[in-house]
Parts: sequence; C-alpha cells; structure tokens
Amino acid sequence: TFKAFVLENSKPVQTNIQEWTVDQLPEGEVLIQVAYSSVNYKDGLVGHTGNLAEFTPLVPGIDLAGTVVESSDPRYSKGDEVIATSYRIGTGHHGGFSEMARIPADWVVEKPEGLTLREAMILGTAGFTAALSVMQLEKNGLAPEQGPVLVVGASGGVGSLAVNMLSNRGYQVTAGTGKDHEHEYLKKLGATEIIHRDELVDKENKSIRKSKWAGAVDPVGGKTTQYILSSLSYGASVATSGLAGGLEVETDVRPFIGRGINWLGIDSVQCPMPLRKQVWQRLASDLKPTSLEDELVAEIGLQQLDQTFSDILEGKVKGRVLVKL
Ligand code: NAP
Repeated sequence: TFKAFVLENSKPVQTNIQEWTVDQLPEGEVLIQVAYSSVNYKDGLVGHTGNLAEFTPLVPGIDLAGTVVESSDPRYSKGDEVIATSYRIGTGHHGGFSEMARIPADWVVEKPEGLTLREAMILGTAGFTAALSVMQLEKNGLAPEQGPVLVVGASGGVGSLAVNMLSNRGYQVTAGTGKDHEHEYLKKLGATEIIHRDELVDKENKSIRKSKWAGAVDPVGGKTTQYILSSLSYGASVATSGLAGGLEVETDVRPFIGRGINWLGIDSVQCPMPLRKQVWQRLASDLKPTSLEDELVAEIGLQQLDQTFSDILEGKVKGRVLVKL
C-alpha cells in the first residue's frame, strides 16, 4: 500500500490521507513512484473549493515527478525519471498528492538533464507557465534593450519565477506585489523596481495611459490586465496566464489599433507535446532559475496540504510550495 491525499467529497469539501493499493489507480501505461509534487493555485481550487474536481474520491495534485516502476509503453521503462503535469491530472485523473500515480504515456515527459526531480517540481506548472510566458513574449519581439518588463503577482509561483528568469536574461524587471514585507525577496530574485499592486489596476476604465512597459507577465487578470493593456509601449505584448485577481477585462480597441500591442494567451494545460518538451528543455538550461532553493521554496508533506490550499487562494503563498512524498 501507499499513502494518498484524497478529496473524498467536493460539496462540502472533505479530505483525508488514505492507504491505497495500485489497483485503485486509474488506467494508464506508466506507473510512477512519485518523489515530489507541488501546490499550484489550481490545486487550491480543487482542494479547498471542490471546484474543478470532475469526480470524487479524487487524488488532487496537477504536478508530479518521479521514477517509472513499470510501463506498457515502449517510450518509458523501469527506472526512468519522468515529469507529468496538467492535462487532466489532479482534476479528472488521480494526481500527484500520492506516493504512486498511473499516467497515460502521452502525458508523460522525460525529465531533461539539467534538472533533478526536486528542481523539476520546484518549477512545476508555475515554472512552466513562467517560461512559456517569457518564450511567447520573446517570440513576439521582446528584447532586453526595449525597457522595463512588468511582472504582476510577483511574489506568487508564476510571478516569482518569471521575475528571476527575466532578470537572468538581462531584462530590467518591475515587480508588482501586494506584499510589502516581500520587497527584499523580490530584489533577491532580480527585480529592480517594486510597485504596489493597488497602483497597477485600472479603476477608471481608461483604455489608454502613458506608455510604460516593454512587456508584461500577467498571472493576475481582471482590472490588472486592463491596466497593463492601457500602459504597454508601442508594439509590446502582455502574456496573460491567470485569474488570481479577477476574470473580467474591459478595454477597447485603442491600444491595439493605436499602439499595435499584443495580448498573448498562455495555456499550460493543453500545451501540445512538442512545445511542452521545448519548454522543459529551456527550464533545464537557459531559463533555469538561479537560487532555486533559498528563499523561493517551502517544503511540506501531505498533512500540510489543506492549510496550503486556503493560503494559496488568499494570495498568501510566497514562491513555490514543494510536496515531498
Ligand atoms: P500564486 O502562487 O497564488 O500567485 C498568485 C499571486 O497573485 C499572489 O501571490 C499575489 O501576489 C497575487 N494576487 C493574489 N490575489 C490577488 C488579487 N486579488 N489582486 C491582485 N493580485 C493578487 O498562484 P500561481 O500558482 O502562481 O498561479 C497564478 C495564477 O496563474 C492563477 O490564477 C493560476 O490559476 C494561473 N495559472 C495559469 C496557468 C495556465 O496554464 N494558464 C498555469 C499556472 C497558473 P502578490 O501578493 O505578490 O501581489
């Protein structure tokens, strides 16, 4: 038997840690002994609100990294170190908050050289999303000499990693945060300027403001996205990945037709496998963050998950929460 954290019921939410056997795991070609998982905002939604859980009992955890125990797919064999993130993992297929997982081979990525299993999960879906955001911004023309790049939600998972990746690539990074006590942390990650998040919202529904940003990484959404769209420089892009600050965005066509800006959507869940592999390769090489360990990481066990779910939904989590199995 092995230990699994189970969302037993979603309305109302009821969770517990259970002893499971391999027969309780879903169909899939690759049986994995999970070494690490991580907690993302989406795990907070599944584990604390029950929303997004397609059925119960469900093992949440959208990220996992571990060692193959057996595989009926020729691409993988016993002993391989692998990563599996998103698709329906942790929402519609038992996920990473468990010592064992069985995953369809098409959802599995070989762990690239240059990352340990632990490092892969310090990054997890948040790091993947930060890297994909940077890649799409650069594909759309962003370069360091163009001026400051804004990262909002900067102390969170996606934000922290984006600050560090951009700074390491030579960008001047402005961090937007609501946490006054995390300015030192953000400077250590590489931010050169810090602005309170209240100043980065479009309260007046003004679609055009003074041009300020050469690019932006936006895991926040809502009125923060509105602000960013109104203040991007000519030809600049924003990569929007999240909704931590809201869903609805009101704007008009002026910044698009007057400044030629680009609003880029970032999706990690159904990101096609060739691009997914490229992102992991970049995360293991030129986009690999520095100082992965100090500051950025809090390591927990299955017992601390419930508390972490409510913390992440309240925007209280700093950096990344790693789950050791
Ligand atoms: P996280 O660690 O909780 O980071 C979110 C950060 O947003 C918080 O730490 C906080 O940072 C800021 N924030 C929270 N509430 C806010 C509010 N009301 N207004 C403005 N800012 C607020 O979560 P995460 O795992 O990095 O995920 C961030 C978002 O990206 C989530 O919405 C998640 O669903 C989304 N996401 C999407 C994808 C995708 O594939 N599209 C992948 C990963 C994540 P400060 O205190 O520093 O302001």
